[in-house]
Amino acid sequence: MFHGVRGSTPCHSPEVQRYGGNTSCVSLVAPGQDPLVFDLGTGLRYFGKQLDVAVSSVNVLVSHLHWDHIQGLPFLPQLQRDDCAINIWAPAQDDGRTAHECLNAAICQPMFPVSLEAIGATVEVHDVEPSDWKIGAFDVNAVNVPHIGPTLGYRVTYNDRSIVYISDHQEPSDASLFDPAVLELCNNADVLIHDAQFTDVDYVGREHWGHCRIDYAFALAVEAGVSTLVLFHHDPSRSDDELDAIEGEYKLRGADAGVDVVVAREGMELFVPCHADVHA
Ligand SMILES: [Zn+2]
Ligand SMILES: [Zn+2]
Repeated sequence: MFHGVRGSTPCHSPEVQRYGGNTSCVSLVAPGQDPLVFDLGTGLRYFGKQLDVAVSSVNVLVSHLHWDHIQGLPFLPQLQRDDCAINIWAPAQDDGRTAHECLNAAICQPMFPVSLEAIGATVEVHDVEPSDWKIGAFDVNAVNVPHIGPTLGYRVTYNDRSIVYISDHQEPSDASLFDPAVLELCNNADVLIHDAQFTDVDYVGREHWGHCRIDYAFALAVEAGVSTLVLFHHDPSRSDDELDAIEGEYKLRGADAGVDVVVAREGMELFVPCHADVHA
């Protein structure tokens, strides 16, 4: 489920109400598994509000530590509960600081009234290098993604179905090229949730801001044989009407290329049937 679909900064105006103005946060649920969350943007508060009270453990894969990906953490309702465990995986920094040190440095006075340690739940932060590991029955694969600062893309596989999350992705100067590790991560994924910050027009003069054009996200999805591309991390200036037009255009192009294209909006749920479900 999509709880926050914007990049850079939360936004609010009549023009962005339908797709929503919260920053990056997506949750993944599977039977018998603790919820898995991608990123801690301001959408995280809404993820926490809809969570069943019986859930006492939340696992989070953080792409990187830019504000729009961590700002929701202090507002997760479950953080107030002594009986909750919040397990976070995030990239360490090139200068040796751990992800935990960086989060502690952002959530403390004078920027925030309470430190992360002083809030009720148990918070564990694990540094991640590109690697594979398991979280419950989810298989997780992390690779480096070109952006600004250490950034990871994640592929989560459950019962042979794979979802890839690449929120922020620097387009190379030659747009016909794809980072080999990123391309491999996306290979034949059922769903690719990908940076869609810029239109071709917006991109001019912003070629080194760490993001890509929607067209590049689409080309990557086609090249990798992805089934469904979810355009995500919308620029805060992108209006609902513009997003409607983008979805219309790329659905047509996707139909020709064999990729279903969807524009992420808050509250949207995607059901990815497992093979057992398909044949039931
Ligand atoms: Zn971002
Ligand atoms: Zn970023």
